[in-house]
Amino acid sequence: MSKLLLKGGRLLDPRAGVDRVADVLITDTVIAAIGEDLTDPAARVVDCRGLVVTPGFIDLHVHLREPGEEWKEDIASGTRAAARGGFVAVCAVPNTRPVIDNAALVRFVVEKAAREAAVKVWPYGAVTKGQKGEELAELGEMAAAGAVGFTDDGHPIERAEVMRLALLYARQFGRPVLDHAEDRSLSQDGAMHYGRFSTLAGLRGYDPLAEEVHVARDVLLAEATGGHVHIMHVSTARSVEIIRQAKARGVRVTAEVTPHHLALTDEDVAGSGYDTNFKMNPPLRSAEDREALIAGLADGTIDCVATDHAPHHRDDKEVEFGLAKNGVVGLETAVGVVLDALVRTGRLSLERMILAMSTRPAEVLGLRPPSLRVGAEADVTVLDLEKRWIVRAEDMVSRSRNSPFLGRELVGAPAATVVSGRLVMEGGRLVGW
Ligand SMILES: [Zn+2]
Repeated sequence: MSKLLLKGGRLLDPRAGVDRVADVLITDTVIAAIGEDLTDPAARVVDCRGLVVTPGFIDLHVHLREPGEEWKEDIASGTRAAARGGFVAVCAVPNTRPVIDNAALVRFVVEKAAREAAVKVWPYGAVTKGQKGEELAELGEMAAAGAVGFTDDGHPIERAEVMRLALLYARQFGRPVLDHAEDRSLSQDGAMHYGRFSTLAGLRGYDPLAEEVHVARDVLLAEATGGHVHIMHVSTARSVEIIRQAKARGVRVTAEVTPHHLALTDEDVAGSGYDTNFKMNPPLRSAEDREALIAGLADGTIDCVATDHAPHHRDDKEVEFGLAKNGVVGLETAVGVVLDALVRTGRLSLERMILAMSTRPAEVLGLRPPSLRVGAEADVTVLDLEKRWIVRAEDMVSRSRNSPFLGRELVGAPAATVVSGRLVMEGGRLVGW
């Protein structure tokens, strides 16, 4: 029997109404006791004085790159990055090689993760075969094999009829369809947000309308079918407004925003000297868009923060901006960036952050959220709100280091990660295996 004692932290679980200083005793996989001055000579003790103990963080949007591109990331390295970043679970998107579009490949991820992963891995299945946008994949079989939702991320679902059918079928299995909202006839392979800075740089602009018309379409299709659509990486002010209005009408729409869209703008792309680590899809938007994303997250219009962790090898990034691959890593910086850019500045309450990174992600998938209650599974994240640190490539355990935050000083960091009762990270260091 393994025992872990989290000593003297501030326990904060907004959904359960918990906010108190107490000890947490974990026995095997379960929270066995919560109280003052708990002792157990058999327990490994983690000193949590001055720290915040929260339900475990979940990342809804992670590219683990396995199978097929293991030199960028694999299940082992990606989940170690997640553990280091304070996450107890990650949802793996299926745009791998081959595409995860059948039950056998879903099982491959589940079984490989059971052997090698540092945190829980919840795979998505593709919506369409080969993510080609034409023929629906076997959603029911993938759900039965463990797929927690369906997405063609990496590609938008272009044909409305395919999206309509996907929402109808996924609804039968109680799973969301997660969409990368982009009308490619409008985005036109834009390298960065369409605006003053793209014009100054002579780079092809990515019109925010490309996202907004797609979000509007998805919302209408969800309304018509009663299906659940989840909009991935929302980036524009008008997308937030469309989602806000749809929610008010009772449409089953949920949404996520990335830490980089919350913290950075197109001005930062220019300020970086067009560093390709600032290139992603959707691109970093205007300052007004960023403000709307923060407001949308604060008022619950945007449900979750998700990283869109997208590892790329240096070869794909050490090229000119317009040619570089889209995507940035995010698992190891997400908590620090959100704490530093939003919580410390008073833009987002710590309670709302915990809901957006722990409780809501589970609820979006229809899963029971992690909780700080006796009897609950011991999935726990510990936060250090005061820790000052600098994001350094050499500290990262991800196989790729394409982060726009390299060199940036952050205040706030994950201090410990407990996955199903197992301490996997303490003080920024991986432990336990
Ligand atoms: Zn995407």
